[in-house]
Amino acid sequence: MRSLRPIHVIGGGLAGSEAAWQIARRGVSVVLHEMRPVRSTAVHKTGHFAELVCSNSFRSDDADGSAIGLLHAEMRRLDSLVLHTADVHKLPAGGALAVDRDGFAGAITAALESEPLIDIRREEILEPPAEWDSVIIATGPLTSPALAETLSRQTGEAALAFFDAIAPIVHRDSIDFDVVWFQSRYDKAGPGGSGADYINCPLTRTQYDAFIDALLAGEKTAFHDFEAATPYFDGCLPIEIMAERGRETLRHGPMKPFGLTDPHRPGQKPYAVVQLRQDNKLGTLFNMVGFQTKLKHGEQARIFRTIPGLGNAEFARLGGLHRNTFLNSPKLLDATLRLNTAPRLRFAGQITGCEGYVESAAIGLLAGRFAAAERLGDTPALPPPTTAHGALIGHITGGHIETIDKGPRSFQPMNINFGLLPPLACGTRRDARKQALCARALADLDSWIGAAMPHAAE
Ligand SMILES: Cc1cc2nc3c(=O)[nH]c(=O)nc-3n(C[C@H](O)[C@H](O)[C@H](O)COP(=O)(O)OP(=O)(O)OC[C@H]3O[C@@H](n4cnc5c(N)ncnc54)[C@H](O)[C@@H]3O)c2cc1C
Repeated sequence: MRSLRPIHVIGGGLAGSEAAWQIARRGVSVVLHEMRPVRSTAVHKTGHFAELVCSNSFRSDDADGSAIGLLHAEMRRLDSLVLHTADVHKLPAGGALAVDRDGFAGAITAALESEPLIDIRREEILEPPAEWDSVIIATGPLTSPALAETLSRQTGEAALAFFDAIAPIVHRDSIDFDVVWFQSRYDKAGPGGSGADYINCPLTRTQYDAFIDALLAGEKTAFHDFEAATPYFDGCLPIEIMAERGRETLRHGPMKPFGLTDPHRPGQKPYAVVQLRQDNKLGTLFNMVGFQTKLKHGEQARIFRTIPGLGNAEFARLGGLHRNTFLNSPKLLDATLRLNTAPRLRFAGQITGCEGYVESAAIGLLAGRFAAAERLGDTPALPPPTTAHGALIGHITGGHIETIDKGPRSFQPMNINFGLLPPLACGTRRDARKQALCARALADLDSWIGAAMPHAAE
């Protein structure tokens, strides 16, 4: 084998561990830089690679009916170190894949340490030196402040966020269009709009009053200790904080009813309106405009389903406000996760704007394979958009659409969900859709593995 320069991976969490493994499996050497245990983060407790900082669950393992289960199945077919190790260290957890966290992280650490092509260095990287020609940055939601400062400088202040302010996202096909309607306020088209870009949910005064009472009484999530200084920004206050400031505040903010006419009841002016805006290019997901919240997830689902038209809403994501470090990836990264302005730098894991242990590892897997392919003189092959891997990377690098009006930056971290996959041709029964999406994804993944992976692990 010819001698190739190593690829540098910064961060040995879920994404960096998987990326390093994938690169080494392709015969390319890796230097893996991990700052723990020399320097830790506010939440990690050990020096292990791929430490799980909170829950020990990789969520549902149902590859026929859940998007995360599908992602598991795809990762198994792609020889994922993280999934293989999770399978070995799994604990009884019903339909979920839960792991013994110490056994899991210990085994990942042992696998990386015993791989001859991986050179492990326990050090904090403040700035990737110019002579490293291929780098994967996988430093996660708690990227060390010095490196975050470097990335801020390199990408522009507004392109790196330190908190996510997440509004819930609803699957369009779960919204009741006998109640809601499409219209932009005052029918304004704006740049790139049609004049009918928003889904509007009308509330009467009684419904609005009940909604405000529910928000005020709803159970909220506490900040972690390290998030205690989380600032509330102008333009993205949690809705329950707005409601606390006065019962009418929301009606003059995100729930204002002006410039909208309900075609189902043209003579009756709504007292308040909740608007949803298209969130992905496929048009399958809509976000609740201005509805970032710290309400507990169960409370969100219960309270938001009282909004007319959302009685049966299925949420692709619920709201939240967290400490996080992530890039405005659709703007900054190319299709293979490289920084447009400095292609020697590639990103992986939660810092790219995916959410979750498994999603972070999946993006690490792709970043590792892309970097190795490049090093071997091949063109990195993108997974089909119909697969969970393709859908996830699509969300990060291009599938999200920017907000069409002023407000906080709209790209926010996202778990894998079926709304990110291109819909099936019409005619598939609703109850059979998930299964059909999974079957299509696995068939397309198999063709991709066969056709496009000349250096697949033997
Ligand atoms: C408090 C908290 C709780 C979470 N709970 C869950 C949960 O229960 N379930 C879930 O699915 N997801 C959870 N997440 C979200 C996310 O999926 C995990 O954080 C996941 O670990 C992200 O994977 P990653 O590889 O991108 O980052 P990480 O796993 O955090 O790995 C990043 C690594 O980079 C290292 N590093 C950072 N800066 C440097 C530097 N400058 N030089 C060298 N090394 C560096 C860190 O030490 C770390 O090992 C949580 C996130 C947080 C912050």
